[in-house]
Amino acid sequence: MPRYLLALDQGTTSSRAILFDRGGNIVSCSQREFGQIFPRPGWVEHDASEIWSSQVGVASETMARAGVRPGDIAALGIANQRETTILWDRRTGQPIHHAVVWQDRRTAATCEELTRDGHAPTFQDKTGLVVDPYFSGTKLRWLLDHVPGARARAERGELAFGTVDSWLLWKLTGGRVHATDVTNAARTLLFNIHTLAWDDELLGLLGIPRALLPEVRSSSEIYGHTDPDTFGHAIPIAGMAGDQHAATFGQAALERGMAKNTYGTGCFLLLNLGGEPLPSRHRLLTTVAWQIGDRVDYAFEGSVFVAGAVIQWLRDGLRFFRTADESEALAASVADSAGVYLVPAFVGLGAPYWDSHARGTMVGLTRGTGPAHITRAALEAVACQSAEVLAAMRLDSGLPLAELRVDGGACRNNLLMQIQADLLGVPVVRPRITETTALGAACLAGLAVGYWEDIGEIARQWQADRRFDPAISADERESRMDGWKRAVARSRNWAVPVSGTTGTSETTGTTDTTGTSGTTGD
Ligand code: ADP
Repeated sequence: MPRYLLALDQGTTSSRAILFDRGGNIVSCSQREFGQIFPRPGWVEHDASEIWSSQVGVASETMARAGVRPGDIAALGIANQRETTILWDRRTGQPIHHAVVWQDRRTAATCEELTRDGHAPTFQDKTGLVVDPYFSGTKLRWLLDHVPGARARAERGELAFGTVDSWLLWKLTGGRVHATDVTNAARTLLFNIHTLAWDDELLGLLGIPRALLPEVRSSSEIYGHTDPDTFGHAIPIAGMAGDQHAATFGQAALERGMAKNTYGTGCFLLLNLGGEPLPSRHRLLTTVAWQIGDRVDYAFEGSVFVAGAVIQWLRDGLRFFRTADESEALAASVADSAGVYLVPAFVGLGAPYWDSHARGTMVGLTRGTGPAHITRAALEAVACQSAEVLAAMRLDSGLPLAELRVDGGACRNNLLMQIQADLLGVPVVRPRITETTALGAACLAGLAVGYWEDIGEIARQWQADRRFDPAISADERESRMDGWKRAVARSRNWAVPVSGTTGTSETTGTTDTTGTSGTTGD
C-alpha cells in the first residue's frame, strides 16, 4: 500500500494541499491564494480556471517539496468551500461564467420572492436549509437566466453544473466523472436530504433542468482516478466533503452528540445528529454530515458571522495591538471585562437570531474602561455567541454535550478557550492537529481505499493537545450569559430601513440590506 494520503483543501481565498502519513501526521503543505472578483457591491466571483490551476499547482508542489512521487499516494481527498456555483461546457471543459461564490448576495430578491410566495417551508422541510442567497440553487438559476444561451444549452445537455468538489473532480479525471458528494449536494437547495436525491419539486420551483446535475455519491468511495496527464500517475480520488463536514470528520466527531467549533473569521459549529435529520426550531440548519457506505449521518449547523474578525477589528481598526496573538496577554491583564459587553453584530447576527438589522454595540462602559477590558469583552463575545448556538443545538436535539472540539486560527488563544469552557459548562478540547479540514478529506479518502481499516482507527488516531475544563459556577455562568443577552437585545433591530419598518429579514434571514455575506469564513 502506498504510504501517503493527499488532501486538497480548496478554500474561499486560497487553495491548499497537504500530505498526511499513516499516523495522520502532516508531511508537507503548500498553499496559494487566488483572485477575488467583486463586480458590484454584494457580488463575489472566482475564476474557476484559477481555482483549478492553483489547486493542481499546490498539489504538485507539496509532493515535490516532500520528495513524494504520485505513485506513493494511496488516495486523494477533496474538501472544498461550499455552495460556490460553477457552470461549464461539457465538451470544452471551459466555465461559461465566473463561479458565483457562497458569499454573493445577488439573488436576494429571488429568495424574497420564493419566501413571499410561501415556498420557504417546502425548501426547509426537504433540504434542511433556509431560503437564502448563500446556497447554490438561486445562483445556478441566475446563471441560466443571465448568461446568453445558457438555459437552452442546459436543456440540450451541453452544460454541467457543479460545486467546487464536482468541478475539481471533473478536471482531475480529465472530464470523465461528473459527480458530487451528498454533503455538497445538501447545500444546493435542490437536494432532498431525506430521500437523498435531487428533488423534482425543488428543481421545478427554481427552474433547473435535471440534465445539468452531477451524480450524487457518498463522501467516501472511489469516484475515479486522476488523469495521467495531471500528475503523471493515476491516483484514486476517494473522498469528498464540504469543508465544515470534512473538519467535523477530521475532529473525529463521529458519534451522535459530538460537536466541533471552528474559530476563524466567523465560527462554524456542527453537532452530529447520527442517523436522524431532526428539524430545528431555533433556526439552525439541518445538513448531511457525511455518507459512508449506506450509512448517512446528519448534523445541525449554526454559524456566527463575526468571531476572529472582531479581533482583527481591534487590531486594525482600533490599533489595540499589532498581532491577533497579543490579544490574549492584553485580555489576561485584567481579571474580567468590568461589566463591558461588546456585541460584534457588524453585519447583523447569525444563528439563532438571523437579524440582519442588528449592528455592533458596546455597553457597560465607565470612566475606568480601557483597551484590556474591551479586548476581554471581545473574546467573551466570541465565546458567548458560540455558547448561544450550542444552547440552541442542545434544545433542538435534546442531546447532552460532553465536550466541544475546537479548531481554526483563533483556537490557539488559550484564554478564549478557557472562557468558552466556562460559558458552556463543558470541557473544550483542542486537538494536536488543527488542520482538521484537510485531515477529514484525507481520512474519508483513506477509508475508501483500505488505507485505514475502519472508522474506529480514525477515531483512535485523534489526539488532544489541550483540554480546558469549566472553572466557574453555574450561577456565574448564568449571570454572564444573562448580561450578554441583555447586550444583544440592545444591538438588535438597529439599522432599520428609513421607512422604520424592519422587513422580513428578521424572521427569515433572506433580506440583503446589510451584506451579511463575506464574513462567515466558509
Ligand atoms: P479564516 O479561515 O476564516 O480566514 P483562520 O482560521 O485563519 O480564519 O483564523 C483567523 C482568524 O482568527 C482571524 O480573524 C484572527 O483575528 C483570529 N485569530 C488568530 N489568532 C488569534 C488569537 N491568538 N486570538 C484571537 N483571535 C485570533
